Order: sequence, then C-alpha cells, then structure tokens
Amino acid sequence: MSTSSHPVDPSKAIEHTQLLIDGEFVDALDGKTFETLNPATGAVITQVAEGGAADIDRAVQAARRAYDHGPWPRMKPDERAAAIWRLGDLLLADAEEIGRLETLDQGKPYSQAVGGYVPAAAALFHYMSGFATKLEGSTIPISAPGRYHTYTQREALGVVGLIVPWNFPLNIAAWKLAPALAAGNTVVIKPAEATPLSTLRLGQLCLEAGIPPGVVNVVAGYGSTAGQRLAEHPLVDKVSFTGSTATGRRILEAAKGNLKRVTLELGGKSANIIFADADIEAAIAGSTDGIFNNAGQACAAGSRLYVHDDVYDEVVAGMAEKARQIKVGDGFEPDTEIGPLVSLEHFDRVSGYLDIGRGEGEVVTGGARVGEQGYFIEPTIFAGAAQDSRIVKEEIFGPVVVASRFRDTDEVIAMANDTRYGLSSGVWTRNVSTAHTVASRIQAGNVWVNTYGVFDAAMPFGGVKESGWGREMGHEVMNDYTDVKTVCVNIDG
Ligand code: NAP
Ligand code: MG
Repeated sequence: MSTSSHPVDPSKAIEHTQLLIDGEFVDALDGKTFETLNPATGAVITQVAEGGAADIDRAVQAARRAYDHGPWPRMKPDERAAAIWRLGDLLLADAEEIGRLETLDQGKPYSQAVGGYVPAAAALFHYMSGFATKLEGSTIPISAPGRYHTYTQREALGVVGLIVPWNFPLNIAAWKLAPALAAGNTVVIKPAEATPLSTLRLGQLCLEAGIPPGVVNVVAGYGSTAGQRLAEHPLVDKVSFTGSTATGRRILEAAKGNLKRVTLELGGKSANIIFADADIEAAIAGSTDGIFNNAGQACAAGSRLYVHDDVYDEVVAGMAEKARQIKVGDGFEPDTEIGPLVSLEHFDRVSGYLDIGRGEGEVVTGGARVGEQGYFIEPTIFAGAAQDSRIVKEEIFGPVVVASRFRDTDEVIAMANDTRYGLSSGVWTRNVSTAHTVASRIQAGNVWVNTYGVFDAAMPFGGVKESGWGREMGHEVMNDYTDVKTVCVNIDG
C-alpha cells in the first residue's frame, strides 16, 4: 500500500502522549510507557504514558477536589453550557489533527474521521451543552396532612469514571463526557490501551475550552490495572463503560464496593431483517453498510442477517457483490472505505471466527486476510449456519455477517430474539404493519426501519438484556448522569 497519496502527514509528531491530571500533562508515577500501534501497518506510532492504579488515584483525587471545591459544579449553568459548546467548536477546528490521530491509532478512514466522526462528536457537545441550563425538577402536589411545598431537583453525581473502548474512541468518549459535563460532574477517562491518542488530545481541547483543571482527567493505561482501579475506586460515584459483556460483568463486580452507579453499553449480535416486500436495492445497500462499516467493529453492527425466502438469493448475491467492491485499505488512502481491525490480538480473534465459520456454514464471499501487513480482513458473508452455531450466537466484532432464511414474521421474530443480546435491530419492509409489529416485538434497545446505523446526538442509544444498562445520548442520558433530590417544605404558617 503506497503512502504517496496521503492527504496528511501520518508521521507528524504527536503532541499529547502523557496523562492529563489536574490540568497538567504528566508522566506516570512509575515512569512506565506503552507503545501504541498503527493497525494499518503494525508500526509503533509513539510511546504513551502508562497510567497505573496510583495514577488513577491521583486523577480521581483531582476530580474529587474539582467537584467538591472547584468552580465547575457551582458555575452558572449558562457558563458551563458555553464552555461545552466551545469544546464542540474546538473539535471542529481541530478536525484534521484529531481525525489524523483517530486514523493512525484506530485505522478508520481519514475521510470518515474528519468528515463524519469528528463533526458527530462536536455535534454531541453542542447538543448536550444545552442541558446545563435545562436540568429542571418538578413541583409535586402531595396529599400528606398539613401544607407542603414539594419539589425535585436534578443534581450531578460527583466524580464519574468513563471507560471507553477502541472502536469509536473519540465518539464514545464524547457520548459519555458531554452529558457528564453538562450535569456538572467531573471525570476521569480511561481510553482503551489500543487507542489513547484522540482522547488525550480531547483532554487538551477541554482545557482550551475553559473547562477548569481537574474537571477532565485522562489516564491512558490497561483495563486490568487502570480500568479496574477506576471501576472500584471508593471516591468515584459512577462508572460508565462501553465494551464487551464479559468486561461489563467485571466492572459491575468492581463497582459494588461503594455501590456506585453503573452504565453499561455492551456487546450485540443485532438482527437485520429483510422482508420480501422491501425495497431490495435499498435493503442490500443499507445492510451491507450496516455490517461492514468500521470493519464491523461496532456494537450495533447488523451481524445476523435474516432474509425472506422469496428474496434470499437476490439479497445475498447483491450483498456479496457489494462486499467484493468495498475498498479495504490504509485509512490514509483517499479511496479506502474500510480500514484494518484495531490490533493483532483482535485480528487473531476475528480470524479464529473465520475458521469456526467455515466449519459451521459456507463462505459466500470473503473469509480471508487482505494483504500481508496490517490487520485487514475481507468483508465476509457466511450462509447456511444453524441458529445455535457459534457464528450466529457470538459477537465477532469484525466484517462478518451470517445470512439465514425465514418464511414468516413469527418465525423471524423468534429467531431474532433468540440471543442473550438486545442492542440494535433493522427491519426492511414496505408494509407499515410489518414494520411496527417487528419494532414492537423485537427485544432490542433500538430498531432501524428501512435504514441501518443512524446515530444522532438527540437519539437515545443502548441495550436491553445482556447488551447493558442505561442509555447514551438524547434527553434520556441525563438521567444517567444525575440523581433526583426531593425537597419537602412545611409551609404551614
Ligand atoms: P473490553 O475488554 O471490553 O475493553 C473495553 C474497555 O474496558 C477498554 O478501555 C479496556 O481497557 C477496559 N477494560 C478491560 N478490562 C477491564 C477491567 N477489568 N476493568 C476496567 N476496565 C477494563 O474489550 P476488548 O477486550 O478490547 O474487546 C473484546 C470484545 O469486546 C470485542 O471483540 C467486542 O466483542 C467487544 N467490544 C464491544 C464494544 C462495544 O462498543 N460495545 C467495544 C469494544 C469491544 P484496555 O483495552 O486498555 O485493556
Ligand atoms: Mg493504536
């Protein structure tokens, strides 16, 4: 893969590789660092300070001071809103640099990072900034004897730990940081070890936006050390985690010491259902994008494809044709549509599922590595696997979809719900009754009808069943970053 047509210089020095604690970029206390790699080449990008438990302690103490004594939670709501809005503006102004870091570290196409993901993160800060001035309670006419003025008020929780995965490092950090800040909390962010760079830069932008020191701390490091300490820390009031269901259980265990609040946005194995009366061309295009976008490394990916028998051959052939046309490559190549998997470890994991899939079903297209360097895998479609096979049951988190046939609505709803997960789903039909029937009966946190993968700052997102607890985005998320206090005043004169 030539690098001659790069629109940017991927080798430019990285500015922020230390931990952000109390408004300063600092080394880890024990001086440790780790390498972060470019998944398109396997080459080391830079060394990053490796935060351990002691660094988490420092960061939590800084966040605690900023919450208990600092200006942030006491600031006038419109001033807090203005700072969060400014952060959105700064992200837009910084799109090329922070987008470059996202592509380098994570692998996603640079054009998508700069043109799509950074603006989406900025939009999130802009949208959420408005809640700072709208955290309202209610007045409640109670029926107790006497005369009372009773009202509720929404209050911040305190110090919030944000544990972020590597698939959308900047955006998932934004999903959590923006509402946490709007409510007046202070935070410690632990980005994934594979993708710390854009989050460290986001920390710098928070300072430039005028968010006071100590309000946003960023500690890069490993999950088993830094992440674990953050989840169990007695001075942390809430932890919001996105990642695997297995790690989600560990977070829950760790959080129980002080019964901190927990938001979990976990895995998925989302059913995408195509009925015979659908706009087949649109369904093929949307379903192809709905699984292969971000190389399938998306919790919401439409990884179980259910197609009505009458159109099954046409849809599967159409998706295979589109899959073969997808340009897989280095994210800095201008025509790249999907990049590499994030790491060698993850590449090995997904490759393992390709082997399993060959035993459980047939390969319609793909199924192999692309190139010799970097962690690229072909967009892959399996068919003919049993509903209890591993490739139908388990989250692969790569560019791999499993196609199955169905004959009627009851049958497909039963198949769609036969999973421990419940994150997303898709339905393609021209029949309004079918659309609403499936939408109401499917066990999932969100349903896309005649589209797939639409995200917006105003749309709540999250799962049911083992896909997690709580919601990101929309009004809903503010409930997850605040508590309600009830005040009852005796006004009997
Ligand atoms: P993971 O373990 O769930 O990692 C997510 C985040 O949690 C990372 O920041 C990770 O840190 C941290 N972490 C790991 N162990 C922890 C612990 N004991 N306490 C606190 N934090 C901890 O995910 P993964 O191992 O990278 O990926 C495995 C699978 O998870 C994927 O194949 C996919 O199925 C799923 N996944 C889902 C999502 C999603 O959006 N729902 C995102 C990513 C992965 P380090 O990575 O730095 O160790
Ligand atoms: Mg990396």
